[in-house]
Amino acid sequence: MAYDPNNIFARILRGELPCDKIHEDDFALAFHDINPQAPVHALVIPKGAYVDMADFAANASDAEIAGLSCAVAETARALGVEEAGYRVLTNKGADAHQEVMHLHLHLFAGRPLGPMLDGGDIPPDGRFKRE
Ligand code: AMP
Repeated sequence: MAYDPNNIFARILRGELPCDKIHEDDFALAFHDINPQAPVHALVIPKGAYVDMADFAANASDAEIAGLSCAVAETARALGVEEAGYRVLTNKGADAHQEVMHLHLHLFAGRPLGPMLDGGDIPPDGRFKRE
């Protein structure tokens, strides 16, 4: 999929739309999710134009990849959730319900977050089928 330079996060990066900023450095921007799904719900995005994790892994420089990882940790520190813990998640593509086509890492925290996926365990023996 080609990168759409007018996606919401590209517009936030260009300053055309506001965001509630938590952290910014040369490689990444972190801000609060507009529709939080936990007491703390931040988004960490690379400054480069990457659709998703696959695009990022294939095309970003080593410095950009390292920079995004460090920005996640820095964001957690800035939010004061490092000690209690947090969860980092990224959605890629239709099965994962990716809505914004600029790579973003969700950072959830602020309460015990429960099982990793809603609905509990998926059997590891092939019984899980897509609708
Ligand atoms: P995803 O389903 O992984 O693509 O998640 C997209 C996320 O972006 C959702 O959690 C939205 O609530 C969030 N979002 C969409 N627009 C904005 C915005 N303008 N500012 C902050 N978060 C946003």
